[in-house]
Amino acid sequence: MSSLRFQAINNLMQKASDTGDHASARITGIFNENVFTLKTARHYLSDEAFKSLLASIQGGKKIDRTMGNNIANGLRAWAEEKGVTHFTHWFQPLTGLSAEKHDSFFTIKGDGTPIEEFEGAALIQQEPDASSFPSGGLRATFEARGYTAWDPSSPPFIMEIGQGKTLCIPTIFVSYTGESLDTKTPLLKAAVALDKAAVDVCQYFDKNVTKVHATLGWEQEYFLVDAGIANARPDILLTGRTIFGHAPAKGQQLEDHYFGAIPERVYAFMRDFEQESYRLGIPLRTRHNEVAPAQFECAPIYEELNIAVDHNTLLMDVMTRIAKRHNLVVLLHEKPFAGINGSGKHNNWSMSTNTGVNLLSPGKTPKTNLMFLTFFVNTIKAVHDYAELIRASIASAGNDHRLGANEAPPAIMSIFIGKFLTDVLHEIETRVSSDFDEQDEAILKLDIHRSIPELMLDNTDRNRTSPFAFTGNKFEFRAVGSSANCAIPMTTLNTVMAETLRHFKQEVDALIEKGEKKEVAILQVIQKYIVDSKKVLFEGDGYSEEWEKEAAKRGLANVKTTPLALDAYSSDKAKKLFEEHKIYNHLELEARHEIMLEAYVKKVQIEARVMGDLATTHIIPAAVKYQNLLAENIRGLKEAGLPETAYASQKTILAQISEHIRIISEHVTHMIEARKKANDLTDTREKAIAYCEEVKNKYFDKIRYHVDKLELIVDDSVWLLPKYREILFLR
Ligand code: ADP
Ligand code: MG
Repeated sequence: MSSLRFQAINNLMQKASDTGDHASARITGIFNENVFTLKTARHYLSDEAFKSLLASIQGGKKIDRTMGNNIANGLRAWAEEKGVTHFTHWFQPLTGLSAEKHDSFFTIKGDGTPIEEFEGAALIQQEPDASSFPSGGLRATFEARGYTAWDPSSPPFIMEIGQGKTLCIPTIFVSYTGESLDTKTPLLKAAVALDKAAVDVCQYFDKNVTKVHATLGWEQEYFLVDAGIANARPDILLTGRTIFGHAPAKGQQLEDHYFGAIPERVYAFMRDFEQESYRLGIPLRTRHNEVAPAQFECAPIYEELNIAVDHNTLLMDVMTRIAKRHNLVVLLHEKPFAGINGSGKHNNWSMSTNTGVNLLSPGKTPKTNLMFLTFFVNTIKAVHDYAELIRASIASAGNDHRLGANEAPPAIMSIFIGKFLTDVLHEIETRVSSDFDEQDEAILKLDIHRSIPELMLDNTDRNRTSPFAFTGNKFEFRAVGSSANCAIPMTTLNTVMAETLRHFKQEVDALIEKGEKKEVAILQVIQKYIVDSKKVLFEGDGYSEEWEKEAAKRGLANVKTTPLALDAYSSDKAKKLFEEHKIYNHLELEARHEIMLEAYVKKVQIEARVMGDLATTHIIPAAVKYQNLLAENIRGLKEAGLPETAYASQKTILAQISEHIRIISEHVTHMIEARKKANDLTDTREKAIAYCEEVKNKYFDKIRYHVDKLELIVDDSVWLLPKYREILFLR
């Protein structure tokens, strides 16, 4: 019993009893404690500096050098009072994670005096060593250097790591020639595009609307694993998921985990990372067990898109760090365990005006209902018209395991709207359009508002299988993967929405010009959009086979793998869309496509290596050990003069093991050959396809099948990798 596996399990037994707990505090007492909020800024900045900061946040006005210095000084004063010694520009490069490079306030002046300082220039711009971040060849084409630039719209915060405290300045990351090298820059640009297009349309209904921003409330699913156990699983450490492992005798079939009691140890971890999150201004609201054992979820109160994205990136980082304190490992991977539910990150999305109206909330009056219907139908049209781009925006090696698998939304982009709204759209669709009138009672006094309880009833059940569901006052984009940076799908969604709204306005204006009344013109275009995009609406069971067939009949795309899903980024339609809205120029778009393909190749490559390594150095040796034991046993029984029947079973097992070993070895050898061939390809797209089809699809499942069979036969005491039953049930 000397293997790492048994040590890990023994440790677990001891650790489980000594989880510390933390004194509880009222959330309002610590919320935003480590954030340079506007309220804090008011206190630490001069009037002038505060006004300049405010103008920059609200109107995107440039902050000049003097004001930059003033703001930096105020920030440093605040941070130093809290014991901060270092600062960093915090950004989100295309690795999908956050990045930082710490510098101290400490410096030595020309005359040799040591001082602490933080100049405006250092606040506003930095030049991290950018060469190690993915750029899809962009920096090679242009300039070797990249720089980070302060994004005043997201407030600075203090990150506490151990005893150290660092002032983090949220920034964007761009090349010297202006190409974006991060996920944040395009998101901010998409927000601008949506603002403009949505305000223009809102003007039909309310002249007071001068600003529209998207709102996002994400729901983060994750698994927790004991750190000791994870350490004994090289696949978890290196790939974030289990490459091998037979389903446990007890899995999620009893459905006793969902909303069940949270284990004490997990509870301590949750409280700890929640406290840290509150200090950072992340407004977490919900925590609960998820469907699978060891799976959990947390969700905040929704926020303005930009801030919500930063908060999710920050949360993933905080969770990962805090877990270490509790001897746990957080798995953000979309599918850490075969046969067990995967993890998603539902993106609840809507739009909100400066007048405080949620544009996807059904109204109380005919007029507000028309506005609701406008934005509702435009969203449907946007998803319909750009389904392939939306699919591409959630494509990743991890999410491929989830999309289309039995417990997650399919790779087909469809929208669930519930029975009530289906009827509403049907009614509009079937009317003779010349019959619409200004005060269209039949349609506009729908009392949609009062039917909200019915909408909610609709959405609890069947919409779980929909990748994009209307849930009463927002759309829930459910197909996003748990490890994704929300900025990527949100950039696409906001851009396609901007484009659709822009067209909508052009069409309505054209009808008005022809003499149509405004409301009638709007209804006519809405009707047209309903007809045009009807095929994307689906109310049935998205997990069923019938839907795959039906979707194919309707001509909806069902792209199951990342390398092919990403093709949408290279279409002329995508180039035109993103260029017109100034989100990406065509070089930036190509670079992104390249980076995502590269990321896919690397992920599958690492998994294939780990698979080969583990099969060769863990699985086969354990199986051989047990074979020797059996052989010895057979020999002994034979020598003792027992009849053949006494060791017939042992012989059968011996032969079975040999067969499994033979097949595993053969497949591993072939997989390595396939990998070499794929590596020789120079075109990244071809390489990604080869990794997907020739390496992953051809060998992963086959090798796993035989390894998992061995797990069921081989002596438990020689098996090296912790088993699902040991990983999945946290004590
Ligand atoms: P559930 O999906 O479990 O029914 P809720 O509907 O209450 O839960 O909320 C899920 C998430 O949606 C939360 O993060 C919530 O803040 C967010 N949300 C609610 N309204 C909006 C909105 N208008 N825009 C964006 N997100 C929203
Ligand atoms: Mg939800």
